[in-house]
Amino acid sequence: MPSPVLPEQGHFRVIARDDGSEEVEAHIEFMELAIQQAHLARPIETAFNVGSLLVNGRQIIATGYSRELPGNTHAAQCAIEKSRNTRQAHMVSGAVLYSTMEPCSFRLSGNVPCSTHIIEAGIRQVVIGVKEPATFSNCQGVARLLEAGIDVIHLKLLEEECLRPNIHLLS
Ligand SMILES: [Zn+2]
Repeated sequence: MPSPVLPEQGHFRVIARDDGSEEVEAHIEFMELAIQQAHLARPIETAFNVGSLLVNGRQIIATGYSRELPGNTHAAQCAIEKSRNTRQAHMVSGAVLYSTMEPCSFRLSGNVPCSTHIIEAGIRQVVIGVKEPATFSNCQGVARLLEAGIDVIHLKLLEEECLRPNIHLLS
């Protein structure tokens, strides 16, 4: 059967070892900042606490955490929204988004999912700390990003730290 014509898939990579390289050290450093953001979110029973960071090169463009902005917002959505009001707004296209948890692919509330915000913003690469646990929904965020041609790295070095802001939902 002929396969349908699809946009070029993004590249998926798992980093499970700290090899001391400049790249891995930078990912760890930025993910730690994203984790700090996740801890700023007020815990609730119906959604995860996620932190997010938008970076271009070594420059942090914006940060975000769950429900930071009004309207039941998510972390990646907040970082992208906030970046629009900064002097680095032009650097969002081509930027890297760090997210402590896999960005969502579907929202029961009918709100626009984070993966759509990420695709529309022109973000080049997404680094996640953990896959979304199946507590609330079956998240297809990584698959959606890859389908849209965005590279995804699963940084498997800080998983416990990324889950810790959500311990009240997972225990
Ligand atoms: Zn989301």
